[in-house]
Amino acid sequence: MSKPLNGGAPAAVVSCTGLSKHYREGADAVRVLDSVDLDVLRGERVAIVGASGSGKSTLMHLLGGLDVPSAGSVRLMGRDFSGLSERERGQLRNAALGFVYQFHHLLPEFSALENVAMPLYIRRVARTEADERAAEMLREVGLGHRLDHAPGELSGGERQRAAIARALVTQPACVLADEPTGNLDRRTAGAVFDLMLSLNERLATSFVIVTHDETLAARAQRTLRLVDGRLGS
Ligand code: ADP
Ligand code: MG
Repeated sequence: MSKPLNGGAPAAVVSCTGLSKHYREGADAVRVLDSVDLDVLRGERVAIVGASGSGKSTLMHLLGGLDVPSAGSVRLMGRDFSGLSERERGQLRNAALGFVYQFHHLLPEFSALENVAMPLYIRRVARTEADERAAEMLREVGLGHRLDHAPGELSGGERQRAAIARALVTQPACVLADEPTGNLDRRTAGAVFDLMLSLNERLATSFVIVTHDETLAARAQRTLRLVDGRLGS
């Protein structure tokens, strides 16, 4: 539950209550999420683990307001998605969230700098300021020497670090990362995971990180498991 802190500020950046999602498969309903409650506090890092097909991506889409629940509610910065228009939802999402996926989704014809600056270009931030902020964020993730490289000229780990920089460049309250290390070898995965944890400490951005690697998950403050549609510790 997001209880108001002093002054009425929401304790949770992202939270959900009684969140359920089912899909119809012919006559049957496939229950993917079954009354999930979660509060992600400001600056917190939460790992979510679960077998393939357990509903991790479904949960992340719902938390990001990219999908509509069958029941229950999601609040972002204290505002219930269900009370917002599509446009308001998009604005709130863009202001408050960053996304990182298993695949980096960098645009191949643009440099690392341009890719990271893209969310700022879209917000019509002036080009020089956007480029400066992107360069600073790339330095934060250890890619200050790769600004002009195209994604094809970066290693897998570097591409994922650039994707993380892109998610953070708008200074979101929370980053939702869905198996961000799933395509990386063990050692690189560990380094990218540690990078997210250190960015969490330095920037006070909350992180929700989905992984199926228990060893990595154990490094987060809190590990939650998704089993049979229920989220527990
Ligand atoms: P995970 O990310 O944990 O691997 P997903 O959230 O992608 O799991 O999927 C959870 C379950 O929901 C799977 O059984 C999947 O087949 C099912 N599912 C996901 N999206 C749909 C959809 N659009 N229609 C029907 N079933 C879906
Ligand atoms: Mg998934």
